Amino acid sequence: MMYVTKRMIEIRNLLQKVGQSNTVTLPSIVVIGSQSSGKSSVLEAIVGHEFLPKGSNMITRRPIELTLVNDPEARTDYGEFPDLGLSKVTDFTLIQKTLTELNQSVPESLCVTDDPIRLIIHSPRIPDLSLIDLPGYIQVAGENQPRELKRKISELCDKYIRGPNIILAISAADTDLANSTALQASRRVDPRGERTIGVITKMDLVDPDKGVAILTDRQYPLRLGYVGVISKLPSQTGSLFRRETSNLLAGISRNEKAFFNSYPSEFGPESGVNTGTMTLRKKLMQVLEHQMSSKLQETTESIQRELEETTYQFKVQYNEQPMSAEAYLAASLDDFKHQFHEYTSSFGRAQLQGLLKSALDQKVLDQLAARYWNRPVEDLAIAPHEPDTIADLPKADPNSPYWHRQLDTAASGLSRLGVGRLAATVAASTVQSNIDKLLDKSSFSKHPSARRVISEAASTVLADRSYATSDGIEISIKPYKFDPDIQPNEWNQGREHVVGLLQTELDQCQAAMKSLENSVGGRKKLKEVISFVDKARKGDIVVEGDHPSGAGGFSSALLARGREAVFLRDRADIINMRIQAAKSRKCKTLDNKYYCPEVFLDAVATKLAQTAVLFLNVEMLNDFYARFPREVESKLREHMAAGGLERFAREDPKVRRHLDLIHRKELLELVLAKIEDLHRFGGGSGGGAAAG
Ligand code: GDP
Repeated sequence: MMYVTKRMIEIRNLLQKVGQSNTVTLPSIVVIGSQSSGKSSVLEAIVGHEFLPKGSNMITRRPIELTLVNDPEARTDYGEFPDLGLSKVTDFTLIQKTLTELNQSVPESLCVTDDPIRLIIHSPRIPDLSLIDLPGYIQVAGENQPRELKRKISELCDKYIRGPNIILAISAADTDLANSTALQASRRVDPRGERTIGVITKMDLVDPDKGVAILTDRQYPLRLGYVGVISKLPSQTGSLFRRETSNLLAGISRNEKAFFNSYPSEFGPESGVNTGTMTLRKKLMQVLEHQMSSKLQETTESIQRELEETTYQFKVQYNEQPMSAEAYLAASLDDFKHQFHEYTSSFGRAQLQGLLKSALDQKVLDQLAARYWNRPVEDLAIAPHEPDTIADLPKADPNSPYWHRQLDTAASGLSRLGVGRLAATVAASTVQSNIDKLLDKSSFSKHPSARRVISEAASTVLADRSYATSDGIEISIKPYKFDPDIQPNEWNQGREHVVGLLQTELDQCQAAMKSLENSVGGRKKLKEVISFVDKARKGDIVVEGDHPSGAGGFSSALLARGREAVFLRDRADIINMRIQAAKSRKCKTLDNKYYCPEVFLDAVATKLAQTAVLFLNVEMLNDFYARFPREVESKLREHMAAGGLERFAREDPKVRRHLDLIHRKELLELVLAKIEDLHRFGGGSGGGAAAG
């Protein structure tokens, strides 16, 4: 049982998951050899499957990091490409295709790259091994191969054949061993032959005598020895075994046995030479296990160092504060709920009433303008004999049906304008915008999608109650449509409030006038235009239509400003007059309500707002305050399902760094525990690679 290799490979895979693969460099077996030396055939025989890119023009352009996992549980053999997210590929032709594509993705101009393709193969029939297949050495660059290809391949191989890796140097028996590029390269980095295994392929192509001579070569003695193999199936059985590829090794093995057994004096047990793919495989396992064990102490120390550094960082950067995506969400939610709670206590009936009243103030002004200040022309037609300007109102007969009708229409117009919908809309949009403001200040501002979920939860809950609330309000204000029933104190408040409102309106008119003055180039200029417009209106001057070039020496744009100024001036005059009227003695009492429509309408608007707010507060606001936190919780949970929680937390770079550090620390602790288990099991025997 190759226990250390198995665990060390597991550890390496774990470390790779957090990008910590550089922490420990575990020994691998690197496979080098010239093109056509039989390198691929040897690897495939060991794995028992054909899976490597083939083809006459096929040059391996990337290292293939091949991890073999002995998996007794695996029902069928399968491969995984962790970097592609491809798992459980049981079709080895597909693996071959994928490798070919990955290989071809390297642009020719680059020749080769050291960016490895990672492939993990699981099978109950393979040993735990870590192999790296490198591009084959090329002797002479072909016509369409760039010259530096040869150099680049050689450089790439040099990078991998450094210690502590084991070198599997492949040479074919039918070529001169002295010229073997693989052995030459190996000799350069491992002159004493301590970590090189020599593999001699194509033993079937040379005389047994010559074969034995090669395997016992003393030119470059290897402590781990040479192994002679025949990695190709005889052609008549080839097609049969190729179809059932899991038997590839069995077939090769049987063929090798038949061959080597037929020369007992050359290859028999007494001869002292090593032959056969099975022997090679066993040797690889033993050598790698030994090498892994010898690295155990060093690996342990480097993981300990890494863990110490990580623990230190955790202390200084985060004061050892724990963190998890779940905890981060809980804290963010708690914080938001707290803010929300504070908001609920600051926004209630009084605030709603204020909001609704100002929305209604605007409607009051609209009614006044429509009914009183800018008298519509058709009214003149209906009541030609009545006093027709607001300036005449104080002198009017208190029982004038005209002014009675005006006030009644204005008051019922106010209650008929859809107060229910207005109130529900004003309340909902205010609450919504306040929630959005709370979100902007909360940690959810860093998480756009979660922020949207919460904001949408608010709209859903608000919209849910909107229709019922608006209907309820309409029913509750119905009585005021016919009889507003204003009390003397309400009248007084209305009077005070409306004077302020009119004053604001007047200020706005004056400010608009000021900006008009500035826009035409001063007060004097505006006065000239105003006087021209006035004259034209009275008919003293005839202006034909809206001539684009203007009239009276004024451009048409200037004239438009003039007309606007005339409107503002007239409006300001009326408002001024109405402020005086509202302040006057006559408007002190409710009995004179027909003289003081501003006060009356204001009092009605207040009444409507008060009634509507009673309803709004219970039906909408309290309901929202109770349901919203629950809705947020459930909608967020839904949003966070299927990996969303982790994604959410990692959107915040600070949290991500914190989580990464904890993850790394936990992982290193786990790895260290695993390594300590290995020590206990009796792994780390130390020393160099096992003797051959
Ligand atoms: P690579 O270029 O080093 O990967 O070499 P391949 O594994 O593709 O082998 C090159 C050629 O040699 C192929 O046609 C193989 O079938 C053949 N070959 C490989 N090993 C042996 C062997 O042991 N005996 C014989 N006769 N042919 C072999």
